[in-house]
Amino acid sequence: MENAMKQSNTEQPRRPEGQALRERWEHLRREAPIYWKAFQEWSRIHGRRAAHRVHNVVAGNRAAGPVSFLVCSAALAVALTLTTLYSPSYAVTLDGETVGVVADEGMVQQAIRSVEETGSQLLGYDYRVEGDLEYEFALSLRSDLTTPEELQNYFYNQLDAVSGELRKYQVLVDGQAVGVVKDEDSLNQLLDSMKDRYTTENTVSVRFLDTVATEPVYEVNDLMTIREMEQALQANGNGSTTYTVVAGDTFNAIAYANDMSVSDLKALNPSVDINRLMVGDVLNVKELTPLLSVETVDDVTYVESIPCPVEEVKDSSLYKGSSKIVTQGVEGEAQVDATITYVNGQETGRVINSTTTLREPTKTVKAVGTKEKPKTASSGSYQWPIRGRITSYFGGRYIFGSYSYHSGIDISASYGAAIRAADGGTVTYAGYKGSYGKLVIITHDNGTQTYYGHNSSLLVSAGQKVYKGQQIAKAGSTGRSTGVHCHFEVRVRGSSVNPLSYLP
Ligand SMILES: [Zn+2]
Repeated sequence: MENAMKQSNTEQPRRPEGQALRERWEHLRREAPIYWKAFQEWSRIHGRRAAHRVHNVVAGNRAAGPVSFLVCSAALAVALTLTTLYSPSYAVTLDGETVGVVADEGMVQQAIRSVEETGSQLLGYDYRVEGDLEYEFALSLRSDLTTPEELQNYFYNQLDAVSGELRKYQVLVDGQAVGVVKDEDSLNQLLDSMKDRYTTENTVSVRFLDTVATEPVYEVNDLMTIREMEQALQANGNGSTTYTVVAGDTFNAIAYANDMSVSDLKALNPSVDINRLMVGDVLNVKELTPLLSVETVDDVTYVESIPCPVEEVKDSSLYKGSSKIVTQGVEGEAQVDATITYVNGQETGRVINSTTTLREPTKTVKAVGTKEKPKTASSGSYQWPIRGRITSYFGGRYIFGSYSYHSGIDISASYGAAIRAADGGTVTYAGYKGSYGKLVIITHDNGTQTYYGHNSSLLVSAGQKVYKGQQIAKAGSTGRSTGVHCHFEVRVRGSSVNPLSYLP
């Protein structure tokens, strides 16, 4: 590089064939004022006659007059025309390539100095214009002379070619430097492809939400590949997005501390059980947002269902609070034209431009009960058959020295205490049944059954309807029992389940 940098521009320019022509011109120029003075003197004396004679000469008339004067004035006319229209000049070439035509060599030197100064500042080293600079004398039309600006531009183009080799592109997002890449075309391709990722056939506009700018830089230590730039632009730009649970934290407190609702926090942590936070759990408290976000706007057309209108009709055969569908309607269809805005593919806004009904829905007819609900109807929730200590829980246990499965819970009671129906229903068994002793079974409206065992006496009989909380028996220790208690059992579709899951 250093060797290639020639200093020829500082050498004296050569002046080959133009030399002689130049000297003749300089001579004429020196003499011209003398001729001009003579001409002025002569015309002062001869006045209008001179003009007349000149006219005659032009017209080819052989009028009398001093021949020497005619020759002289014709030469002067040519000389004056030449000095007015033409200028002595130099055709400037660099390595044989035309740079321009200048009247003053100093102008070229000045243009070079100016560009070299700029180039040195830009590139960070001593920049020199390269090539063999030559000047050749010529006469040129004054209007053909190269302007100082044109001259500078010529040398700036050379600087541009040199700096193009060294030029790299710094990428800035919202004014913050992300990194530097070598190739501007590849960078532009990358930016386009980042937009294309979210562009669909319905997309009407796409833009970056952040301001992306590039600026040329020349001295760079770390250069990124386009792949690295892509990763940097897609990396999370939303700061720290996680929070690690410490002792004493609650889900609500974490949501509050991060200025978000509990449901927002839940949405960011779908797999976290909010009631079982453990110290050290890592929660997402902010969305991951790429450094460079893409907003797309799509115009879309889709078909949407129209819900059935519901008509309610009174039905005295149904209990109050219950209902049933008499006629199920058919949903309608509508064509919707909407403009949807997405940020990084996530919908952020939807404007419905028009809705066209394609098919009207048909109505659903719903019967609503008006009949007064009897006291004995099931409420769907249970009360304790008797208040007392649980002496045996549901599931596997050791009793009488061996393992057995306990199908209910045992609630201790005093002899003769009131045993009450857990919910309304129909007594489907009342009598003695093996190890249960004196047993009452109530079948509730949804088919679930409750068992009350070991009673001393029964107060209801099979087929009787009972209401929630109604006394059905007196506590005892009949059947396979070691003391006075109520064996309470719940059966769902025939299988015993843990009664504690149903009791308040
Ligand atoms: Zn029991």
